[in-house]
Amino acid sequence: MNLVLLGPPGAGKGTQAKRLQERYGIVQVSTGDMLRAEVAAGSAIGREAKAVMEAGQLVSDDILVRILAQRISKPDCAQGFILDGFPRTVPQAQALDAMLAAKGLHLDAVIELRVDDAALIERIAGRYTCAKCGAGYHDSFHRPRAQGVCDVCGSTEFTRRADDRRETVTARLEAYHRQTAPILPHYAAQGRLYQVDGMADIDQVSAELVAVLDRVPGAAARAAGDHEKLMSSR
Ligand code: AMP
Repeated sequence: MNLVLLGPPGAGKGTQAKRLQERYGIVQVSTGDMLRAEVAAGSAIGREAKAVMEAGQLVSDDILVRILAQRISKPDCAQGFILDGFPRTVPQAQALDAMLAAKGLHLDAVIELRVDDAALIERIAGRYTCAKCGAGYHDSFHRPRAQGVCDVCGSTEFTRRADDRRETVTARLEAYHRQTAPILPHYAAQGRLYQVDGMADIDQVSAELVAVLDRVPGAAARAAGDHEKLMSSR
């Protein structure tokens, strides 16, 4: 099962993609995480992307299409994938269609997480993660049980993304409305677009996503079959 999760920054794409990954045994592919890894490694792509990301702008389609094509050709994606943060422009969506068609694949569903801009700024500007295990927290909505100690691994080191500052978040939202939202009609015309309320609580959003995927012809069954194959081949 091949999915795209669409929605503005902070809509919960990463959180939900991790849950779908576990439930269906398909891989989360986050282009934001891939670019952050390139920046941390100081690679040529990372050096080119760093300033653009910190300004809340989009990195060039050329780079993104290249790294995505390499990533989805890896063996772990053969069982299916959930794209989180890609495509973000109409040319990226067109490149993805062509890439999949060349492999005899297609997207089963594109799901838009619908959210409210003002609430998003609040959500994003307060979020941080454990520096060791990556568990996510929030200043207002989800603090660790013991102050300053990660619930999952006990680490006391936390990090905030450089692009989660209020001004940058506003620029990222503008980029979403200007460059990414025009993708929606592209997928609606293909009959693959589904919408879920991303403002509900995390468990409820997950339940709605599963309900949507259960309606996608053959998709959930295909994911279950793939998962069984995956487990029996271990
Ligand atoms: P994310 O973690 O998905 O919010 O991505 C963080 C940043 O990485 C974005 O604000 C962009 O600067 C860059 N980025 C991630 N995915 C893409 C993409 N598909 N196209 C262009 N830029 C991207």
